Amino acid sequence: MLHAQRDTLLAEADRTVEGMTDTKESFPDPTDRASLESNRNFLLRIRDRERKLLAKIEQALERIDDGTYGVCEECGERIGLERLRARPVTTLCIDCKSLQEARERKLRGAS
Ligand SMILES: [Zn+2]
Repeated sequence: MLHAQRDTLLAEADRTVEGMTDTKESFPDPTDRASLESNRNFLLRIRDRERKLLAKIEQALERIDDGTYGVCEECGERIGLERLRARPVTTLCIDCKSLQEARERKLRGAS
């Protein structure tokens, strides 16, 4: 599953780069250029997210290799199979993840 997800991401990343180079010089109009710029920023943000997810997938594959995959980083308990299926790159069990999210919500509420 992780390999499949990685392959999909890599294929999409290739397409994104192609799209960016294709449209590079074809908009001499400043308005078009501006929308092209924001479009490119949008693509870069997607790329950034893809890169981060890709890194997580690589880490998950490493954990499979060293036998720590599916073990919660926080409490050391096994992560449920359902949760791993839904989110294969997770490093936290559902309990620790809920706690983390509750803490983050609290922090955001306070600021
Ligand atoms: Zn845990």
